Amino acid sequence: MRLIGKNSAMVSRVIPVTPFDLVIFGATGDLARRKLLPALFRRMLDGQMPTNAKIIGVARRQMSRESFQDFVREALAEFEPEALAAPKVLKAFLAALDYLVVDVMGDAGWADLGQKLRPDVVRAFYLSVGPSLFGEIATRLNRHGIATPQSRIVVEKPLGHDLASAKALNAQLGACFDEQQIYRIDHYLGKETVQNLMAIRFANALFEPLWNSQHIDHVQITVAESIGVEGRGGYYDKSGALRDMVQNHMMQLLCLTAMEPPAKFNADFVRDEKLKVIRALEPLRVEETVRGQYRGGGGEGSYFDHVENPASKTESFVALKVEVENWRWAGVPFYLRTGKRLRARVSEIVVVFKKPPHAIFPEMATQGSNELVIRLQPDEGITLNMTIKEPGPGGMRLAQVPLDMSFAEALGEDFHGPDAYERLIMDVIRGDQTLFMRGDELEEAWRWVDPLVAAWAESSARPAGYDAGGSGPEDALALLHRDGRKWREIES
Ligand code: NAP
Repeated sequence: MRLIGKNSAMVSRVIPVTPFDLVIFGATGDLARRKLLPALFRRMLDGQMPTNAKIIGVARRQMSRESFQDFVREALAEFEPEALAAPKVLKAFLAALDYLVVDVMGDAGWADLGQKLRPDVVRAFYLSVGPSLFGEIATRLNRHGIATPQSRIVVEKPLGHDLASAKALNAQLGACFDEQQIYRIDHYLGKETVQNLMAIRFANALFEPLWNSQHIDHVQITVAESIGVEGRGGYYDKSGALRDMVQNHMMQLLCLTAMEPPAKFNADFVRDEKLKVIRALEPLRVEETVRGQYRGGGGEGSYFDHVENPASKTESFVALKVEVENWRWAGVPFYLRTGKRLRARVSEIVVVFKKPPHAIFPEMATQGSNELVIRLQPDEGITLNMTIKEPGPGGMRLAQVPLDMSFAEALGEDFHGPDAYERLIMDVIRGDQTLFMRGDELEEAWRWVDPLVAAWAESSARPAGYDAGGSGPEDALALLHRDGRKWREIES
C-alpha cells in the first residue's frame, strides 16, 4: 500500500546562495576528496553555487593551482562520475578552485591566504584535518587577521574524546570565534530523513498527539554497519562504538525523536530542545548496557586482526537501554544499538506504538504493533506498519502491511537526494546553524557518556563476542527479551 505516489509538485526549488570564499584545510585528504569536493560540485550542478564562488584548498603537499584542479578532476571522476557528463559545469567548478601550500603548524603562508580572500563575501573555513589541528588553525586565522566577525568555522568529529577534551576544544574555538560562527557538523543531521523526522512530527497533526508515553511502547534506534574496522583499526581501537557513534550520531537521532516541539524552527530553539533531552537522560546502568567485539566469519577477519592490542576491550558493538526522565517519556525505553560487521548496513529509528486497549479480533493478541520506521540508509524513507483486514473471503483475518513512503518511489526514479554534506555546507554559507551541534550539547552528551566509559574501563569483564554477519551478541537480544520486547531484524 503506497502512502503517496510520484508527485510532480515535489520539484526541488534551488536558490543560489550568496557569494562565498570557502577555504578547505586538508583539501588533499580523504574527506575532502570523497565527500566535500563532490558535494560542492553537485551544488553547482543543481545551480545553487553562485558563479563567483571561490574554493581554496590548503594542505602541505606541494601543488600548483593547476595540479590541484587535476587532483579534483580525478576525485570527481572517481566519486562523482556524473561530473564527466557535464563538461561545462565541471569547467566552471574547476575554475572556482585555488590552492595554497600552508603548514598550519607554522606561520608561513597565512598572509597569502588572507590576500586570496575577498572582503565583501561570506568567508568559511572547513577544517578537514585531524582534531589536534583545530586549535592551531583557529588561533592562526585569528592572529593573522583572516577570521572576520562574519566568518564561519566548520569542524567535524571527533569533537573531543571525553567531557574534559570537549571543553578544551570548545574553549580553543571559543577564544577565536563566537558560538554563532562555529559549525559542528554531524553529517547524520544533514540526511533528508532526519530532517523529515521533524517535518513528520511537527508539520502533521497526526503523530504529535500520539508521540508520548500514553501511546508509544518503546523506541529502537539502530545504526548497523556491515563493514568492519579494517584500515581504521588504529583510530577505532582508541575510540570504540560508544564514542564513535553513540555520543554523536545516535544521540542526535535520540534528541530529534524525543524533543519537545520547538516554538520556532530556528537554530537556538531547536538546539535548546535537544539539550533538554540530553539533560533529561537517566545515568546509564551498566547492567543495561552491552558491549561486543566481532569474531571472524565469511572470509573476513575478527576485530583483533585489525588492531594492535591483542587484549583490547574496545567495543565494536554497543546496545543500551536509555530512559528519558521527563513527563512525555516516563516509562518509555529507548533502545540503542550500533555495531560493525553486522548482517547489513542499516540505520533506522523505529517507534513502536502500544497495542489497542481492547482486542475485538482474536488474532490481535498475536499481531505486531503499529510501527513507524524512519529509515536513514540504505534507502531513505518512512514506513508506517499497519494492521488491516487480509483481502478476500473467509472471514476476518488480519495482516500487517506497510504504508510506505520511499523517497525514490515517491519523488521519482531520478530523484537524487542531496548528500548530507551538500545540505550542510550550503547551510554554513547561508548562516543557518539549525542542523549543527551547539557547544553545550556536545559537552552534555559527553557528560552522559563518560561514566559508562569509566565503568567499562574499570570492569574486568570483556566485551561479548559476536559472529560477523549476524545481529550482535546474545546479550543484546536479552536486553530486550527481559522487557518482553524484541529488536526489529537487521535487514537492508
Ligand atoms: P586525511 O585523509 O588524513 O587528511 C588530512 C588532511 O590534512 C590532508 O589533506 C593533509 O594534507 C592535511 N594536513 C595534515 N597536517 C597538516 C598540516 N600541518 N598543515 C596543513 N595541512 C595538513 O584525513 P581525513 O580522513 O580527510 O579526515 C579529516 C578530518 O575529518 C579528521 O578529523 C577526521 O576524523 C574527520 N572525518 C573524516 C571522515 C572521512 O570520511 N574521511 C569522516 C568523518 C570525519 P598534507 O599531508 O598534504 O598536509
